[in-house]
Amino acid sequence: MTKRILVFRQISDEQLSALEQDFSVDYLPDTASVEDPAFLDALGHAHGLVGSSLAITPTLLDRAPNLEAIASISVGYDNYPVDELTRRGILLCNTPDVLTETTADTGFLLIMCTARRAIELAQLIKEGNWTESIGSDLYGSDVHGKTLGMVGMGRIGAAVARRGALGFGMNILYTKASPKPDLERELGAKRREFDQLLAEADIVCVTVPLSAETEKLFGAREFAQMKPGACFVNIARGKVVDEAAMIEALGDGTLHAAGLDVFEHEPLAADSPLPQMNNVVALPHIGSATNETRTAMAQRAVDNIRLALRGERPISPVNEEVLKG
Ligand code: NAP
Repeated sequence: MTKRILVFRQISDEQLSALEQDFSVDYLPDTASVEDPAFLDALGHAHGLVGSSLAITPTLLDRAPNLEAIASISVGYDNYPVDELTRRGILLCNTPDVLTETTADTGFLLIMCTARRAIELAQLIKEGNWTESIGSDLYGSDVHGKTLGMVGMGRIGAAVARRGALGFGMNILYTKASPKPDLERELGAKRREFDQLLAEADIVCVTVPLSAETEKLFGAREFAQMKPGACFVNIARGKVVDEAAMIEALGDGTLHAAGLDVFEHEPLAADSPLPQMNNVVALPHIGSATNETRTAMAQRAVDNIRLALRGERPISPVNEEVLKG
């Protein structure tokens, strides 16, 4: 029997053709909601799913009696109920490594734009308001030589820290990660308790996965502990932050400035105050959004699902236990 795959995000024509050689494919790249009838219909027949950005709940899994494997086109897997998938024997795969450097580039883009007020000052020109040399009220802060505090020091965190230490001569602190002796040697990174890092860093950059332990890791207390003038950069997940508390801290000056690629609710609601704040640089979740990297991520997902549905070991399984069961 030919197995069926539901692909609910865009992949290239070549990748689609490759899947169609082995499987019967329902290709619904524009699926915006799990309520979409075409999605639900295809889900009911699917042995495999390939996609991203939709929350796959246990209720949805009840509508997928044949499901054997999911290949997410993302490294983060907070959209999937991992324990429930494991209990049902459904293998989940993700796309680590191939997006690390691009996401770290995005982190540094936000660090630079936020500290140097690049978007706010570019807007001055766009609006025709550059009529004289800017005054000290519009000066930014240096990035080189400052202290970069990494909250999370995994693949992406280390890649951001490497840019900071080797490219910008920054001092690197890290927390919320196991000791990293290799990075301490390579980058001179130092491990700190969370509160201590907040008190010392000029730029705090978040790269932890979203989980029950990291949800709302940053709130009013944490923003108040950061140095006056320090910048906060989040390239992890919006829910790692208490967004209402962040908006308040940005508004009253407790938090100097923020560079954000991710938000509590995405796309950002039209009435969110964040895009209107001069001390905020907001990007539409583009951490890995380059042609090269999105193609590589889709390819990893295609490879993962092909291997998983053939009963072979995929390249990057999340719930390894299923393979042993
Ligand atoms: P990773 O290699 O697994 O690194 C995660 C880091 O967070 C590690 O240092 C880990 O500690 C630490 N950590 C894990 N669980 C934690 C917990 N419960 N509490 C505190 N710290 C914890 O993952 P990655 O590849 O760097 O990706 C990190 C996250 O970035 C993803 O999960 C995803 O949500 C996000 N991301 C966002 C974008 C974007 O478009 N903005 C793109 C890609 C990824 P150890 O070092 O001790 O393991």
